Amino acid sequence: MAGERQADCLFCKIVAGEVPATVLRETDTTVAFRDINPQAPTHVLVIPKVHYPDAASLAAAEPAIAADILRESAEVAALERTVDSGYRIVFNTGSGAGQTVFHAHAHVLGGRGLNWPPG
Ligand code: 5GP
Ligand code: ZN
Repeated sequence: MAGERQADCLFCKIVAGEVPATVLRETDTTVAFRDINPQAPTHVLVIPKVHYPDAASLAAAEPAIAADILRESAEVAALERTVDSGYRIVFNTGSGAGQTVFHAHAHVLGGRGLNWPPG
């Protein structure tokens, strides 16, 4: 069924506590944890507890949870004190755009200058 845990999914395992992560925040629908390979002083991943392969499929099936991801991203930015200096929310979608884990996730990046356009 849509949204169900996938046995071979790394982020489903993090949701289940089977793979350790540095968790900053957890809600009924989301988990926020530090990226293992940070690209900025703040680099946090915000994921839904349900499994969808990318942000678009999550938004189509569970729009309220997609909104939770954005709300939690802002909470992470506040926690990390990157609101005033600015922060970026990124949803890599598709391998051509650098997506490597096919469980929807927002990257929250901040704590340094962020160039535009991104690489
Ligand atoms: P993507 O490339 O799919 O947009 O983002 C996946 C992110 O997951 C990458 O930034 C990568 O560093 C991070 N990542 C991969 N494996 C792990 C892990 O085991 N733990 C954590 N905390 N992050 C991971
Ligand atoms: Zn998953």
